Amino acid sequence: MHSKYPETLNALIAHLKKLPGVGSRTAERFAFELIRWQPAQLEELGTLLTSLPHHIIPCTTCGCLTQQNTCRFCTSHNRETHSLCILSSPRDVYAIEETRTFRGLYHVIEHLLSPLDGRHASTLRIDRIEQRILHHKVTELILAFDSTLEGDATALYLKQQLSKYPISISRLAFGIPVGSNLEYVDSGTLAKAFAGRQTLY
Ligand SMILES: [Zn+2]
Repeated sequence: MHSKYPETLNALIAHLKKLPGVGSRTAERFAFELIRWQPAQLEELGTLLTSLPHHIIPCTTCGCLTQQNTCRFCTSHNRETHSLCILSSPRDVYAIEETRTFRGLYHVIEHLLSPLDGRHASTLRIDRIEQRILHHKVTELILAFDSTLEGDATALYLKQQLSKYPISISRLAFGIPVGSNLEYVDSGTLAKAFAGRQTLY
């Protein structure tokens, strides 16, 4: 499709197109901008990209992003450990932190349930959530999932599986438009959604 360009440029464009929201034309624009950069700048970017898998890793306890084995939430002594917020993306953790309404701990599951895409309950690693509930004597579980079918299915499943524990389970609901991803919800709306979380029965 991009045979009009030299091979390396085609490859660069193909990589850039993998980024969310980047179509062919934008990818081409980015690529032509990059080839104007100084070699030192390109090298710096290249080194940074190469270091990502080694320097930005999921916390072995909660799945939040960290540069060490354990993240700042898990090592902090100022968090309310009886409260556990479960999310499906490490990025959503930052959105919730920004609202300053939650002082508990986080737990990031790798993805929401989506049987059609082969993401079944067995991949949720519910045993890890249970370990944390027992370890921290958690009394409140907050499910902060996208307001989508997958988010609903995952919330329902966790509610069913974890209702044997004496904990309140609630889900962000108020103010989050149906079908929306948390990362696109503004901080004010997210803060309201947190304050107005609804208990799941
Ligand atoms: Zn952690």
